[in-house]
Formats: sequence, C-alpha cells, structure tokens
Amino acid sequence: MTDYKEDCLFCRMLTGKEKCLKLYEDDSTLVIVDIGQVIKKDGGIIPGRSLVIPKRHVVHYYELEDEEAGRLFIAATKIARKIKKAFDPAFVTVFIRGQQVAHSHIILQPSTGEGDPIDAMFMGVRDFFKIASEDVLIQMARKINEA
Ligand SMILES: [Zn+2]
Repeated sequence: MTDYKEDCLFCRMLTGKEKCLKLYEDDSTLVIVDIGQVIKKDGGIIPGRSLVIPKRHVVHYYELEDEEAGRLFIAATKIARKIKKAFDPAFVTVFIRGQQVAHSHIILQPSTGEGDPIDAMFMGVRDFFKIASEDVLIQMARKINEA
C-alpha cells in the first residue's frame, strides 16, 4: 500500500506509527475500535462504536475504486453483525462523513433507539423533512443521472 500521509491519524495507524485496537484487517481495509465512544444521558457508554477505514488515503469515500468500496462495506457489515451479537443494540447505524479525520471512513455507531444521542439526532432531523413535489424530484433525478 502506498499513498500514506504522515499528517493523517489513520495513515499513521496503518503504518504502525500510531496505536489502534484492530478488529479486522484485509488487503484494503482496517477496522478498529474508536477511542471516542458516544455516551448516554446517564454518562454510560453505548458500546461498540467502530471505524472501518480504507487502507488507501482518500478524503471522500466516493473517491474509492469500486472494489475498495465494496470490500469496505463488506467489512462494515461483518463487524456490524458482531457488534449486534456482542452488545445487542437496537440499531447499528452507518455514518460516512469524514469531517474529523480527512481520511474516508465508515463509522459503525450502535444505538439503543431509546432517546440516546444517536436516536435523538434522527428524531430531531425528522422535523426538517418535507415531501417534495414530483416535479422537483424528477428534476433532481435527471440532474443526478446526467452528472
Ligand atoms: Zn490517511
């Protein structure tokens, strides 16, 4: 593997310069336990938050090759099943945002579904949804398909 960036936390983990707790590894993917775990209102941890990291440094997941993206999601699915089995959360939510570490990664975030911060976030977002008109949706689909 090449393309490592010295100033990237995940690249430093991939080259062994930074410590991490590995859950899974293959030729193109590394899965680790995240050091940051989401807490509930009572201060207890919602256990299992993990990060699925491509071994090639790309900032946005849509810059991955199809094969890399496929293997990344297969690894995410394998570990999500294990998180479900180990801790039995109501959901294992998948996030891909890449805001804190600019090296693409999937966040596997368990949620109790009972008002914990992840559940509250989804409930809060529901207030900002609207059913768009068919014209707007058709124009949107056309623009995406033509891009
Ligand atoms: Zn990196």
